Amino acid sequence: MARPDALLVQTAPFENLLYSKNTHAASCIHRSLGSVTIPPPACMLRPLEAPLRYLFGPGPSNVPPRVLAAGGRPIIGHLHPEMYEIMNDIKKGIQYAFQTKNNMTIAMSGSGHTAMECAVFNTVEPGESVVVAVNGIWGERVAEIAERMGARVHRMVKAPGGYYSNEEIEQTLAKHKPVLFFLTHGESSAGLVHPVDGIGDICLRHNCLFLVDSVASLGGAPLFMDEQKIDILYTGSQKALNAPPGTAPISFNERACKKMFNRKTKPVSYLLDMTHLSNYWGCDGKTARIYHHTGPVSGFFSLRESLSILAEKGLENSWRQHKEVAEYLWKGLEDLGLKLFIKDKDLRLPCVTTISIPQGYNWRELLTYIMKHHQMEMTGGLGPSVGMVLRVGLMGYNCNKANADLALAALADALKVCPKSKA
Ligand code: PMP
Repeated sequence: MARPDALLVQTAPFENLLYSKNTHAASCIHRSLGSVTIPPPACMLRPLEAPLRYLFGPGPSNVPPRVLAAGGRPIIGHLHPEMYEIMNDIKKGIQYAFQTKNNMTIAMSGSGHTAMECAVFNTVEPGESVVVAVNGIWGERVAEIAERMGARVHRMVKAPGGYYSNEEIEQTLAKHKPVLFFLTHGESSAGLVHPVDGIGDICLRHNCLFLVDSVASLGGAPLFMDEQKIDILYTGSQKALNAPPGTAPISFNERACKKMFNRKTKPVSYLLDMTHLSNYWGCDGKTARIYHHTGPVSGFFSLRESLSILAEKGLENSWRQHKEVAEYLWKGLEDLGLKLFIKDKDLRLPCVTTISIPQGYNWRELLTYIMKHHQMEMTGGLGPSVGMVLRVGLMGYNCNKANADLALAALADALKVCPKSKA
């Protein structure tokens, strides 16, 4: 059913024009109105409906009211001086969250994949060698992105849950002499947090840039960009940072800047070209910022607010909270008779817990039941971990013991009610 007020708003300006004068412009509008053959869809005349849900999957997570309110503030121009101030604040917030002094620190207009592509497109040229650690879906994605832009990609493949010793990494770098080595810090498809210490030094020795994905771990597990000699680090807005999806912090150190600003070829993407983005974010030392693209103003407002919450709370407190709540959840899951997919506690990602699918159960049925009866999102595996795991994420705003209890109660109920032996 059409909402009468919505129709009024739609037609009023046109009617004023149509009946005012019989000018050429008016007759053009008349003709174009008369030529509409596809009517407004009925769904567009209904108000937006989005249910309230517990987002206890691998992301996005629930957004706190403060961050929602920031995103709901009136828009300003993306090139207004106040917006530059907000972008400068975001840059400082990211530097804190990443523990870096890198000047080349910005937020991408887009999701985590945008940052992934930005990192690869800007630092690698066609024909160059890249080594990618593939122990879940994210390495596979980066390998494909690098292949698409013409890199020679060498995959180090392990089953989900697998991880790499520094010796293995060093041997592979020595063999393939890459310009870039990629590792996922928080492998959300497997629930693994990968050790990072020492890998930056190995990359430095082999004249290779160290690229790390922290989309699912930033704010939830310790990571120190400068100290751990990570050359390029990116994350997403929608996990432990609790901003809406759609912006993605990224930072490049001096070594990465040297490589990306001394290329022989232009990056394949205009939108993701760091020459332009560094100017848009005021990182190139020039006084004038030139229009490149229209940034997501509301998304930046929200991101600033979420970085502000992290700064107030403190990174150490945030890491501690994720660890404590995760340990509480792990214990509760084991008490339910469930088996955790990552056996070694120190390698478990505190943000996203993976549970081996309990024997005899159909995992899709469990998740559908939990969504229907508890209004709660949990998910199955992703990519190579599909059919292996259930995933429960308690990140940032969602990360507390009360929510862990809700998740445990929902799982206990599903295990009791869903019939067994249908897998
Ligand atoms: N890397 C990791 C580790 C992730 O968990 C995700 C999102 N699930 C991404 C990259 C991609 O982020 P986005 O969906 O925001 O593009």
